[in-house]
Formats: sequence, C-alpha cells, structure tokens
Amino acid sequence: MKPETKKTKHQTTNPEPLIGAHESIAGGIYKAFERGESVGCRTLQVFTKNNTQWRAKPLTGEDITNYKTSQLESNISPVVAHSCYLINLCASNKETLRKSREAFIDELKRCEMLGIPYLNFHPGSHGGKGEEEGIKGIIESLNIAHEQTKGVRVSSILETTAGQGSAIGYRFEHLKKIIEGVDEPERMAVCIDTCHVFAAGYDISTDEGYEATITLFDEIIGLNRLVAFHANDSKKLLGSRVDRHEHIGKGAIGEAGFRCLMRDTRFVTIPKILETPKGEDLEEDRMNLETLRKLAGMQ
Ligand code: MN
Ligand code: MN
Ligand code: ZN
Repeated sequence: MKPETKKTKHQTTNPEPLIGAHESIAGGIYKAFERGESVGCRTLQVFTKNNTQWRAKPLTGEDITNYKTSQLESNISPVVAHSCYLINLCASNKETLRKSREAFIDELKRCEMLGIPYLNFHPGSHGGKGEEEGIKGIIESLNIAHEQTKGVRVSSILETTAGQGSAIGYRFEHLKKIIEGVDEPERMAVCIDTCHVFAAGYDISTDEGYEATITLFDEIIGLNRLVAFHANDSKKLLGSRVDRHEHIGKGAIGEAGFRCLMRDTRFVTIPKILETPKGEDLEEDRMNLETLRKLAGMQ
C-alpha cells in the first residue's frame, strides 16, 4: 500500500487570513464573540456601548468577566473597538465638544477594562470652520483625552474617511498632521477603510493603484502606524467622496483591489474587518469572509 500523502486544509503553507467583521453587541458585549465565531471571524470589531447614545452604563465586573471568558474561549484576536458615531472631536458647538471629549475618554477607559488594544474613531467634521481649524481641534481633544487616561494602553486609531461633508481624514496628510501634533504620538495609530480611501480618490482597484496608494501611505504616515483595515467595497465611484459600503468584489473597487490587499505579505498580521451590509442571520458576513479567503488564495 502507498503511504497517504494527501494534504489537508490545515497543512497549507498559507496561514488562515486575519479577517473578521463588525458584530452587534446586543444582549451584552461578550455576545459579539458568539456572532463572530458563527461566521468564521478570527478578528472582530465592536462598539463598547450603545452607539446612538452619549452615555453608557458603566461596565460591571460581570460584563468584564463574561467578555474576557468569551474571548479566551474563542479563536478571535485582536478585537478593535469602534467609537460612538456621535463623537466629533472638533465640534464647534461647545456642548457637543464637551460631550464628545467625555465620551471618547470613557471609551478609552472601557477598552482598557476589556483589554481591547485599539479604539478606532473618525477624526471629526469641522462643520465649516475649515480643515486647519478642525485638525487643531482634534489635536487639542486628543491631548486632553490622553492626559486624562495616563497609563491606559489603548491606542487611539484614526480612521481614514471618504471626505463626506466636512469630514477630516480623507487625505493621508490630515492624519499625519494630527499624529505629529499630539503630545503623545506613540498613542496614535491608523486604520485604512478601503471604501473610504477609494471614495476619497485613492485608486486601490488596480495593482498599480493599490501599490501607489500603500507607498504614499508609507511615505506620508508610515506603515508602522497601520494597525487595521476596514474591508469594504464601495457603491460609489473613485473620488466621489460619498461613503456607501458594498459587498466585497461587488462594488467599484472590485475583486482585483481586494486580491492585492489579501495577498500583501506586509499585512498578514493586520486585522481586516468587514463593515458591509447584512441581515439578522449574518449570511452576508459568511459570504464576504469567504470571498476574502478566496482572494487570499485559500480556496
Ligand atoms: Mn468608521
Ligand atoms: Mn470604516
Ligand atoms: Zn464608511
């Protein structure tokens, strides 16, 4: 008899890609692990509180234990937190700015308690006062937040934006200015949202465009600052400055762009997280994760 030489899926030289999705925390933040596992996530993004409200009930000891136990029992790491959408760190309205800073500080503390290393946030919208002023405001808010969370190990993650309305962060230069302007740049990192950069005008839909974009990011910000990707295709065209997420491969970026990302050996250990549309049964997450695995060359 011949010896069995058939290779199993687990013996491939490619590791399973570090991909996941944003999952709901309905019923408790720890429930996101169950949802993530059920669709095949290896990494995860969550809100640390109700996303549509300024205030949150403080985390209880039980919340924290449930969360940590669920993570240990799962195959999921790291977790990225996405901050509340109400937060605008350069709001012109004094009350909104105060609430934003307070909420951001609270979220940094919640992440620390849960052992979440990254708090992703949208830099802010200047609301008409101009990008320069907006960037100044964001820097000031981050300095206050970091000052009031000394010793907290959570990194503040600037997300690239599509540049909708008066949103700051649709040019890599904006993020560079913010990072260089804060007192503790070592607490800052960046998440590239593929839909947003594309809508902002960085053409990652082709091999050449993808390479050029990553090279530009490296020159302006530095790849050492990059800690996560949001993997979203775009319903809108290159440079549209409109933020509409589409299923992977079905939008204006298309499979070619995501193939570049999934096969980029520089980013093997960097989480790639879906924020694509889905229904209650999370079937679309399974589909999009499968597409990403396929594009990584896994299937
Ligand atoms: Mn976001
Ligand atoms: Mn995003
Ligand atoms: Zn978006």
